[in-house]
Amino acid sequence: MTVRLLDGREVAAHLRRDLTTRVERLGDAPPRLAIVRDGSSEAATMYAASLERAAGRIGLRSESIVADAGHTELVARLNADPSVAGIVVAWPFADADADRALVEHIDPAKDVDGATPTNAGRLARGEPAFVPATALSVIAMIEAFGIEVAGQRVVVVGRSAVVGRPVANLLLARDATVVICHRATRDLAAETRRAEVLVVAAGVPRLIGAEMVGRGAVVIDCGINAAEGRVVGDVDFDAVAPIAGAITPVPGGIGPVTPMMVLRQTVESAERIHSAAAANAGSVA
Ligand code: ADP
Repeated sequence: MTVRLLDGREVAAHLRRDLTTRVERLGDAPPRLAIVRDGSSEAATMYAASLERAAGRIGLRSESIVADAGHTELVARLNADPSVAGIVVAWPFADADADRALVEHIDPAKDVDGATPTNAGRLARGEPAFVPATALSVIAMIEAFGIEVAGQRVVVVGRSAVVGRPVANLLLARDATVVICHRATRDLAAETRRAEVLVVAAGVPRLIGAEMVGRGAVVIDCGINAAEGRVVGDVDFDAVAPIAGAITPVPGGIGPVTPMMVLRQTVESAERIHSAAAANAGSVA
């Protein structure tokens, strides 16, 4: 059996075309994406720049704003501004408390990276919510490639607030039987071997080797790690590919889809603002 390669670049290109059309429909000045970042973090600056480029490619305006610690009034201003559809706080922030304070002030309706406790709570309750982009990109890939998760045994490795937990909730909402593994899991290999679908978000280069994957399993790797001068996932791709039924490469798997999920949620928010404005104009006329 040959392994099926789950190509995220292809999925991202499809999403990009769809979003470009949706932005066009929003008229001349669609509301924009605001990216708030800590000026001292190079990684956050790079992330903000890549999101800005991705937004530009679908015709969406964006702005990257440097925030000082405690600048919650900046977020309040963006919340109140009808020309802003989405607000993302680019991680990392030098001061984790300042980061949390900023995030907690974001209007949940503009929280297009699902970072607020309100959206996390809605997701945990199985209600409609904005969701962290990496978690959502796992679902986008599963849907794009027609992978069945209902009733399946899905194992998630990692319980972070940005990937593991939200992805587990999204899968649960799609009727998967979900097992969440983490650092304290007694026998990780025993758990992962039983997975029909394995989602890995541990941030450990090549954590998952051949002996940890069942034959024919679908393997989705959310890891992006620098190792030996190149980018590798949390899955040892060369070792696991001959055993898996389907696998995401790194790079080129989940990575390219993630910014598209921020943009998709921004466009959803922009569409809501647009139709509310149209309804208002209608009621005045
Ligand atoms: P990410 O952003 O990829 O989710 P985090 O560092 O925030 O990364 O979280 C890492 C998660 O992966 C944690 O929940 C941790 O318990 C899990 N993890 C890390 N190393 C291992 C390991 N060796 N075995 C199982 N789980 C692990």
